Amino acid sequence: MVDLKGQYAKIKNEIDQAMSEVVDSCYFVGGPVIKEFEKNLSTFLDVKHTIGCANGTDALQIALMALDLKEGDEVIVPSFTYVATAEVIALLKLKPVFLDADINNYNVNADLIRPYITAKTKVIVPVHLFGQCCDMDGIMKLAKEHNIYVVEDNAQAIGATYASANGTKQMAGTIGHIGTTSFFPAKNLGCFGDGGAIFTNDDVLNQKIRMIANHGQSKRYYHDKVGVNSRLDSIQAAVLNVKLKYLDEYAKARNTAANYYDSQLKGVSQLLTPVRSEFSDHVFHQYTLRVTNGKRDQLVDYLKEKGIPSGIYYPVPLYEQLAYSEYVADGFSLPVTDQLCKEVFSLPMHTELTTEIQDTIINAVKSFFS
Ligand SMILES: *Cc1c(COP(=O)(O)O)cnc(C)c1O
Repeated sequence: MVDLKGQYAKIKNEIDQAMSEVVDSCYFVGGPVIKEFEKNLSTFLDVKHTIGCANGTDALQIALMALDLKEGDEVIVPSFTYVATAEVIALLKLKPVFLDADINNYNVNADLIRPYITAKTKVIVPVHLFGQCCDMDGIMKLAKEHNIYVVEDNAQAIGATYASANGTKQMAGTIGHIGTTSFFPAKNLGCFGDGGAIFTNDDVLNQKIRMIANHGQSKRYYHDKVGVNSRLDSIQAAVLNVKLKYLDEYAKARNTAANYYDSQLKGVSQLLTPVRSEFSDHVFHQYTLRVTNGKRDQLVDYLKEKGIPSGIYYPVPLYEQLAYSEYVADGFSLPVTDQLCKEVFSLPMHTELTTEIQDTIINAVKSFFS
């Protein structure tokens, strides 16, 4: 599904040098490379503060911890997303409230959120799924009306740009009160292990977030809050400093590949190519299609037999997961999410795809439908 080796080969010298500089310095935790990366990413995203942490799940957890929520407070989340988005809510003894998705862009929007807002709603966590922004104008307006925080889970859309109706453009992850991301190797900006980051334009939240990520310390050995130990390693920051320079180029390569898939697969009946939203560009973390004839699973098996990898993100809605059953009323269902979980599948999408590789994939998909 991804070609991390091919991507590394092209920038091996630069990466190896950056890593060996960290090893030579023996600054493995903290230090100048982390500061440099946080600054570089803040500049890239045009956000005031970037705080590195250990992974994208921790980033979400720390973001929520910084909002001084109380047990039982409600956090609105998509049901069609990766488990991490809801997991941290339950861990913090908050209540995840699961939402349906837009059938076209797979994301949540203000109209889907509105009916679920109660007096206990404190946070909305929109997820910019597969590389495309949620419609943030509506979400921010709704949040403001109800005095609710917005934490953007931007693990899949780093580098994507959101265009407001008023003409301003902002980077995904910098629009809500807090944004989070993951540097898991297969993400669009991936490191060589686990890593994550948190973004905010709010100075007070920045301080709180830094404190929580560092054992709740205001200064060394003075712990004002219960915190966690969640750090981005210096070696990972060194890798990310190099890869960040190529992130726009990587997004372009992903778009070129996506456009080629589109051009070749658009005509196939019972197969729907990804819909591009007018308010967001797409960084194609995944190239996700829908199979509308009920044969998605057969297609995936067929491709597997032919040696073509594909993925199903996500096969089971979060609201139907055993671990989250206590948060869901009997008989509750989210029809669009259910439909997406039955219909979606993703084709290989990465920065090293060639037309030849894509043709092999495309021909296999087409032969299934013919
Ligand atoms: C990958 C991902 C996460 C978690 O990131 P990790 O670094 O693996 O903890 C959270 N949310 C979404 C939407 C993701 O895709």
